[in-house]
Amino acid sequence: MNYNEVLNQIYNESKLQPKIGNVAISIPELAGIDPEKFGIHLIILNNNEFGIGDHLEKFSIQSVSKALTTALAFSFYDEKVWERVGVEPSGNPFNSLVQLEYEKGIPRNPFINAGALVIADMLISRLENPKAEFLQFIREVSGYPDINYNFKVAKSEKETGFRNAALCNFLKSFGNIKNEVEEVLDFYYHQCSIEMTCQELAHSFYFFANEGKTKKGMPVLTTSQVKRLNALMQTCGFYDESGEFTYKVGLPGKSGIGGGIVALYPKNFVVATWSPRLNEKGNSELGMFALEQLTTKTGMSIF
Ligand code: GLU
Repeated sequence: MNYNEVLNQIYNESKLQPKIGNVAISIPELAGIDPEKFGIHLIILNNNEFGIGDHLEKFSIQSVSKALTTALAFSFYDEKVWERVGVEPSGNPFNSLVQLEYEKGIPRNPFINAGALVIADMLISRLENPKAEFLQFIREVSGYPDINYNFKVAKSEKETGFRNAALCNFLKSFGNIKNEVEEVLDFYYHQCSIEMTCQELAHSFYFFANEGKTKKGMPVLTTSQVKRLNALMQTCGFYDESGEFTYKVGLPGKSGIGGGIVALYPKNFVVATWSPRLNEKGNSELGMFALEQLTTKTGMSIF
Protein backbone atom coordinates (compact mmCIF):
# COMPACT_ATOMS: atom_id res chain seq x y z
CA MET A 1 0.00 0.00 0.00
CA ASN A 2 1.26 3.50 -0.81
CA TYR A 3 0.63 5.21 2.52
CA ASN A 4 2.09 8.50 1.31
CA GLU A 5 -0.54 8.66 -1.37
CA VAL A 6 -3.33 7.60 1.02
CA LEU A 7 -2.35 10.30 3.53
CA ASN A 8 -2.15 12.89 0.77
CA GLN A 9 -5.63 12.01 -0.42
CA ILE A 10 -7.07 12.07 3.09
CA TYR A 11 -5.38 15.38 3.84
CA ASN A 12 -6.71 17.02 0.70
CA GLU A 13 -10.23 15.67 1.17
CA SER A 14 -10.23 16.73 4.82
CA LYS A 15 -9.20 20.25 3.91
CA LEU A 16 -12.34 20.52 1.75
CA GLN A 17 -14.66 19.57 4.60
CA PRO A 18 -16.99 22.21 6.08
CA LYS A 19 -15.41 23.94 9.07
CA ILE A 20 -17.48 22.51 11.90
CA GLY A 21 -16.96 23.10 15.60
CA ASN A 22 -14.90 25.41 17.76
CA VAL A 23 -11.59 25.52 19.53
CA ALA A 24 -11.86 24.60 23.24
CA ILE A 25 -12.29 27.68 25.39
CA SER A 26 -12.38 26.10 28.86
CA ILE A 27 -8.64 26.67 29.28
CA PRO A 28 -7.98 30.35 28.43
CA GLU A 29 -4.37 29.70 27.40
CA LEU A 30 -5.60 27.29 24.68
CA ALA A 31 -8.40 29.49 23.36
CA GLY A 32 -6.17 31.44 20.97
CA ILE A 33 -4.98 28.43 18.98
CA ASP A 34 -5.26 28.64 15.19
CA PRO A 35 -8.34 26.52 14.27
CA GLU A 36 -6.91 25.82 10.81
CA LYS A 37 -4.04 23.68 12.09
CA PHE A 38 -4.20 20.16 10.76
CA GLY A 39 -1.68 17.35 10.77
CA ILE A 40 -1.56 13.55 10.51
CA HIS A 41 1.28 11.20 11.37
CA LEU A 42 1.20 7.46 10.72
CA ILE A 43 3.72 4.86 11.90
CA ILE A 44 3.59 1.39 10.43
CA LEU A 45 5.08 -1.03 12.96
CA ASN A 46 8.57 -2.23 12.10
CA ASN A 47 8.40 -0.15 8.95
CA ASN A 48 8.17 3.42 7.75
CA GLU A 49 6.40 6.48 9.06
CA PHE A 50 4.53 9.12 7.13
CA GLY A 51 3.38 12.62 8.04
CA ILE A 52 1.52 15.48 6.42
CA GLY A 53 0.39 19.03 7.23
CA ASP A 54 1.21 20.39 10.69
CA HIS A 55 2.34 16.99 11.98
CA LEU A 56 5.59 18.38 13.38
CA GLU A 57 4.01 21.23 15.34
CA LYS A 58 3.49 20.85 19.09
CA PHE A 59 0.04 21.04 20.64
CA SER A 60 -1.50 20.43 24.06
CA ILE A 61 -2.30 16.71 24.38
CA GLN A 62 -4.75 17.30 27.28
CA SER A 63 -6.85 14.16 27.93
CA VAL A 64 -4.75 12.01 25.62
CA SER A 65 -2.36 11.96 28.59
CA LYS A 66 -4.92 9.91 30.55
CA ALA A 67 -4.05 6.76 28.59
CA LEU A 68 -0.39 7.26 29.48
CA THR A 69 -0.95 7.88 33.20
CA THR A 70 -3.25 4.84 33.28
CA ALA A 71 -0.56 2.73 31.60
CA LEU A 72 1.99 3.78 34.21
CA ALA A 73 -0.43 3.15 37.10
CA PHE A 74 -1.36 -0.24 35.60
CA SER A 75 2.34 -1.16 35.41
CA PHE A 76 2.66 -0.40 39.16
CA TYR A 77 -0.63 -1.68 40.58
CA ASP A 78 -1.81 -4.20 37.96
CA GLU A 79 -5.43 -5.30 38.57
CA LYS A 80 -5.58 -3.40 41.86
CA VAL A 81 -6.14 -0.24 39.81
CA TRP A 82 -9.70 -1.40 39.23
CA GLU A 83 -10.50 -1.42 42.93
CA ARG A 84 -10.65 2.36 42.75
CA VAL A 85 -11.69 3.03 39.12
CA GLY A 86 -14.15 1.14 36.90
CA VAL A 87 -13.90 -0.08 33.30
CA GLU A 88 -17.33 0.89 31.95
CA PRO A 89 -18.21 3.70 29.54
CA SER A 90 -19.81 6.56 31.44
CA GLY A 91 -22.32 7.81 28.89
CA ASN A 92 -21.86 11.20 30.53
CA PRO A 93 -19.68 14.21 29.70
CA PHE A 94 -16.02 13.82 30.71
CA ASN A 95 -16.26 16.35 33.54
CA SER A 96 -19.62 15.26 34.93
CA LEU A 97 -20.19 15.14 38.68
CA VAL A 98 -23.57 13.43 38.95
CA GLN A 99 -22.56 9.80 38.40
CA LEU A 100 -19.95 9.97 41.14
CA GLU A 101 -22.59 10.58 43.76
CA TYR A 102 -24.63 7.53 42.75
CA GLU A 103 -21.59 5.34 42.47
CA LYS A 104 -20.07 6.38 45.78
CA GLY A 105 -16.87 7.93 44.53
CA ILE A 106 -15.73 5.15 42.19
CA PRO A 107 -15.36 6.76 38.74
CA ARG A 108 -16.70 4.75 35.81
CA ASN A 109 -13.37 4.59 33.97
CA PRO A 110 -9.88 6.18 34.01
CA PHE A 111 -10.54 8.42 30.99
CA ILE A 112 -13.23 10.64 32.47
CA ASN A 113 -11.79 13.42 34.63
CA ALA A 114 -12.82 11.81 37.92
CA GLY A 115 -11.08 8.57 36.94
CA ALA A 116 -7.96 10.40 35.76
CA LEU A 117 -7.79 12.23 39.10
CA VAL A 118 -7.84 8.90 40.97
CA ILE A 119 -5.10 7.58 38.66
CA ALA A 120 -3.08 10.76 39.33
CA ASP A 121 -3.51 10.14 43.05
CA MET A 122 -2.26 6.56 42.65
CA LEU A 123 0.84 7.77 40.82
CA ILE A 124 1.55 10.40 43.46
CA SER A 125 1.42 7.70 46.15
CA ARG A 126 3.92 5.63 44.21
CA LEU A 127 6.39 8.19 42.82
CA GLU A 128 8.89 10.18 44.83
CA ASN A 129 8.86 13.10 42.42
CA PRO A 130 5.63 12.52 40.46
CA LYS A 131 5.82 15.28 37.84
CA ALA A 132 9.48 14.69 37.01
CA GLU A 133 9.12 10.91 36.94
CA PHE A 134 5.98 10.92 34.82
CA LEU A 135 7.72 13.19 32.31
CA GLN A 136 10.67 10.84 32.32
CA PHE A 137 8.31 7.94 31.58
CA ILE A 138 6.82 9.79 28.60
CA ARG A 139 10.24 10.69 27.28
CA GLU A 140 11.37 7.10 27.53
CA VAL A 141 8.34 5.46 25.93
CA SER A 142 8.25 8.00 23.10
CA GLY A 143 12.00 8.20 22.55
CA TYR A 144 11.80 12.02 22.54
CA PRO A 145 13.82 13.51 25.43
CA ASP A 146 12.62 17.08 24.87
CA ILE A 147 8.89 16.47 25.45
CA ASN A 148 7.78 18.81 28.23
CA TYR A 149 4.96 20.35 30.21
CA ASN A 150 3.62 23.74 29.16
CA PHE A 151 3.63 25.50 32.52
CA LYS A 152 1.53 28.40 31.24
CA VAL A 153 -1.22 26.02 30.15
CA ALA A 154 -1.09 24.16 33.48
CA LYS A 155 -1.34 27.47 35.36
CA SER A 156 -4.17 28.67 33.15
CA GLU A 157 -6.16 25.49 33.83
CA LYS A 158 -5.47 25.73 37.55
CA GLU A 159 -6.91 29.25 37.60
CA THR A 160 -10.14 28.13 35.93
CA GLY A 161 -10.37 24.47 36.94
CA PHE A 162 -13.29 24.85 39.35
CA ARG A 163 -15.03 21.73 38.12
CA ASN A 164 -11.94 19.54 38.46
CA ALA A 165 -11.39 20.97 41.94
CA ALA A 166 -14.99 20.05 42.78
CA LEU A 167 -14.50 16.53 41.41
CA CYS A 168 -11.29 16.02 43.34
CA ASN A 169 -12.79 17.24 46.63
CA PHE A 170 -15.86 15.10 46.04
CA LEU A 171 -13.65 12.03 45.44
CA LYS A 172 -11.72 12.84 48.58
CA SER A 173 -14.98 12.92 50.57
CA PHE A 174 -15.53 9.29 49.52
CA GLY A 175 -11.98 8.38 50.54
CA ASN A 176 -10.90 7.73 46.95
CA ILE A 177 -8.15 10.39 46.97
CA LYS A 178 -5.37 9.61 49.42
CA ASN A 179 -3.09 12.60 48.87
CA GLU A 180 -3.73 16.33 49.22
CA VAL A 181 -6.34 17.59 46.75
CA GLU A 182 -4.04 20.47 45.72
CA GLU A 183 -1.22 18.09 44.88
CA VAL A 184 -3.46 15.80 42.83
CA LEU A 185 -4.91 18.71 40.86
CA ASP A 186 -1.45 20.15 40.26
CA PHE A 187 -0.22 16.83 38.87
CA TYR A 188 -3.36 16.44 36.75
CA TYR A 189 -3.10 19.95 35.23
CA HIS A 190 0.53 19.30 34.38
CA GLN A 191 -0.08 15.91 32.75
CA CYS A 192 -2.77 17.55 30.59
CA SER A 193 -0.44 20.41 29.64
CA ILE A 194 2.13 18.14 27.98
CA GLU A 195 2.87 19.22 24.44
CA MET A 196 3.68 16.89 21.57
CA THR A 197 3.69 16.86 17.81
CA CYS A 198 1.61 14.26 15.96
CA GLN A 199 4.84 12.38 15.34
CA GLU A 200 5.78 12.37 19.03
CA LEU A 201 2.27 11.37 20.04
CA ALA A 202 2.20 8.44 17.64
CA HIS A 203 5.57 7.27 19.00
CA SER A 204 4.34 7.63 22.60
CA PHE A 205 1.53 5.18 21.84
CA TYR A 206 3.72 2.74 19.94
CA PHE A 207 3.80 0.30 22.86
CA PHE A 208 -0.01 0.04 22.84
CA ALA A 209 0.20 -1.31 19.29
CA ASN A 210 3.39 -3.30 19.85
CA GLU A 211 2.19 -5.76 22.50
CA GLY A 212 3.40 -3.56 25.34
CA LYS A 213 6.91 -2.76 24.07
CA THR A 214 8.29 0.57 22.86
CA LYS A 215 9.88 0.94 19.44
CA LYS A 216 13.25 0.29 21.06
CA GLY A 217 11.91 -2.89 22.65
CA MET A 218 11.51 -1.58 26.21
CA PRO A 219 8.64 -3.42 27.97
CA VAL A 220 6.04 -1.05 29.44
CA LEU A 221 3.06 -3.38 29.91
CA THR A 222 2.45 -7.10 29.47
CA THR A 223 0.52 -8.27 26.41
CA SER A 224 -2.47 -8.96 28.63
CA GLN A 225 -2.33 -5.49 30.21
CA VAL A 226 -2.03 -3.79 26.85
CA LYS A 227 -4.99 -5.80 25.54
CA ARG A 228 -7.04 -4.49 28.46
CA LEU A 229 -6.04 -0.84 28.02
CA ASN A 230 -6.69 -0.99 24.28
CA ALA A 231 -10.14 -2.38 25.09
CA LEU A 232 -10.71 0.52 27.47
CA MET A 233 -9.62 3.04 24.85
CA GLN A 234 -12.05 1.42 22.43
CA THR A 235 -15.00 1.64 24.80
CA CYS A 236 -14.17 4.83 26.73
CA GLY A 237 -11.51 6.80 24.82
CA PHE A 238 -13.77 9.37 23.16
CA TYR A 239 -15.88 10.88 25.90
CA ASP A 240 -19.52 9.98 25.43
CA GLU A 241 -18.89 9.53 21.71
CA SER A 242 -16.88 6.33 22.02
CA GLY A 243 -19.63 4.33 20.32
CA GLU A 244 -19.68 6.73 17.37
CA PHE A 245 -15.89 6.64 17.06
CA THR A 246 -15.93 2.84 17.14
CA TYR A 247 -18.68 2.80 14.53
CA LYS A 248 -16.95 5.22 12.19
CA VAL A 249 -13.26 4.49 12.71
CA GLY A 250 -13.09 1.05 14.31
CA LEU A 251 -9.87 1.52 16.26
CA PRO A 252 -9.01 2.03 19.93
CA GLY A 253 -7.68 5.48 20.72
CA LYS A 254 -7.83 8.58 22.87
CA SER A 255 -8.75 12.18 22.19
CA GLY A 256 -8.13 15.46 23.98
CA ILE A 257 -9.65 18.94 23.93
CA GLY A 258 -6.42 20.30 22.44
CA GLY A 259 -7.72 18.71 19.20
CA GLY A 260 -5.41 15.70 19.22
CA ILE A 261 -6.47 12.12 18.57
CA VAL A 262 -4.27 9.05 18.66
CA ALA A 263 -5.56 5.69 17.44
CA LEU A 264 -3.93 2.35 16.82
CA TYR A 265 -4.36 -0.97 15.14
CA PRO A 266 -2.63 -3.56 17.37
CA LYS A 267 0.39 -5.14 15.68
CA ASN A 268 -0.11 -2.90 12.65
CA PHE A 269 0.06 0.87 13.06
CA VAL A 270 -0.30 3.97 15.24
CA VAL A 271 -1.73 7.22 13.90
CA ALA A 272 -2.05 10.68 15.43
CA THR A 273 -4.09 13.60 14.11
CA TRP A 274 -4.37 17.20 15.25
CA SER A 275 -7.09 19.69 14.34
CA PRO A 276 -8.33 22.03 17.10
CA ARG A 277 -11.98 22.41 16.03
CA LEU A 278 -14.02 20.22 18.37
CA ASN A 279 -17.50 18.82 17.85
CA GLU A 280 -20.20 19.01 20.52
CA LYS A 281 -18.82 16.00 22.38
CA GLY A 282 -15.32 17.48 22.58
CA ASN A 283 -13.65 15.39 19.86
CA SER A 284 -11.75 16.86 16.93
CA GLU A 285 -14.18 16.99 14.02
CA LEU A 286 -11.57 16.81 11.26
CA GLY A 287 -9.42 14.31 13.14
CA MET A 288 -12.34 11.92 13.33
CA PHE A 289 -13.11 12.45 9.65
CA ALA A 290 -9.50 11.78 8.65
CA LEU A 291 -9.33 8.60 10.73
CA GLU A 292 -12.60 7.36 9.32
CA GLN A 293 -11.15 7.92 5.85
CA LEU A 294 -7.95 6.11 6.80
CA THR A 295 -9.64 2.92 7.97
CA THR A 296 -12.16 3.04 5.11
CA LYS A 297 -9.59 3.56 2.35
CA THR A 298 -7.09 1.03 3.71
CA GLY A 299 -9.57 -1.47 5.13
CA MET A 300 -7.35 -1.52 8.22
CA SER A 301 -9.66 -1.54 11.21
CA ILE A 302 -9.98 -4.08 13.98
CA PHE A 303 -13.54 -4.90 12.91
N1 GLU B 1 -7.51 19.37 31.21
C1 GLU B 1 -8.80 19.22 30.61
C2 GLU B 1 -9.88 19.14 31.67
O1 GLU B 1 -9.67 18.57 32.70
C3 GLU B 1 -8.79 17.98 29.80
C4 GLU B 1 -10.04 17.80 29.06
C5 GLU B 1 -9.91 16.90 27.89
O2 GLU B 1 -8.97 16.97 27.10
O3 GLU B 1 -10.83 16.10 27.77
O4 GLU B 1 -10.94 19.65 31.52
